[in-house]
Amino acid sequence: MAAPIIEIESISKSFGAFQVLDQLSMQVMPGEKLALIGPSGSGKTTILRILMTLERIDGGHIRIEGEELYHMSKNGGLAPADEKHLTKMRQKIGMVFQLFNLFPHMSVLDNVTLAPILTKGVSRADARKRAMELLDMVGMSAKADAMPSQLSGGQKQRVAIARALALSPKIMLFDEVTSALDPELVEEVLNVMRKLAAETDMTMLLVTHEMGFAHDFADRVLFFDRGRIVEEGKPDDIFRHPKQERTQTFLRKII
Ligand code: ADP
Repeated sequence: MAAPIIEIESISKSFGAFQVLDQLSMQVMPGEKLALIGPSGSGKTTILRILMTLERIDGGHIRIEGEELYHMSKNGGLAPADEKHLTKMRQKIGMVFQLFNLFPHMSVLDNVTLAPILTKGVSRADARKRAMELLDMVGMSAKADAMPSQLSGGQKQRVAIARALALSPKIMLFDEVTSALDPELVEEVLNVMRKLAAETDMTMLLVTHEMGFAHDFADRVLFFDRGRIVEEGKPDDIFRHPKQERTQTFLRKII
């Protein structure tokens, strides 16, 4: 059997006195499409932010393709952030945020070319060529010269997906990417994600409240509550026949 692309082993994370994650362990196989569901505040976004190195862990291990994401010091704590190592590891992972986070003062094209030029030393010409292919894939090539403020939320989010793909990550993280959108714009973003899932072998982790989409998109669904995985399984099992009472209560409320 193939080795996991992501191994999370007993990680903990607190914000002040509040423990968000408590000895959490999970594994993701290459190419797997995972949906993380559960009540607000259960730690789902924090897991994505930790994988993206936007938050540090208090303890435990994370390995991406077998390599430690955070180097640990000899006394067991985290070693001081090793920027070179983190930059290398970050290139394996792309993230799309709820609020798009496009650079507002840059054109659509520059948003997509910036990271490859800066962090991978790709030439401007090559970065533009690749960016136009990606913008085409998300249906946004006609807006390459537009500024973010001229775009609808759905268009911004499609550009944000192209930008995250520009570094050719092996892992894509989607953090409630449709929850800030007007209902009529949700589908255009979900369609791009469906296409990505069908046409690439990227590993994808999705935090979402769109249960219908999670059902169709995911190979495996993880239900979180209070920083722990309460139940996991195939979408049909979790959504139609949840075993745990907490999962049943949550799904009854949301569906
Ligand atoms: P979810 O994605 O499941 O809604 P989150 O991972 O966003 O949950 O948040 C888990 C808990 O951690 C929440 O109670 C949230 O308020 C808290 N939290 C998240 N980020 C921070 C932060 N930077 N500082 C303080 N508390 C935070």
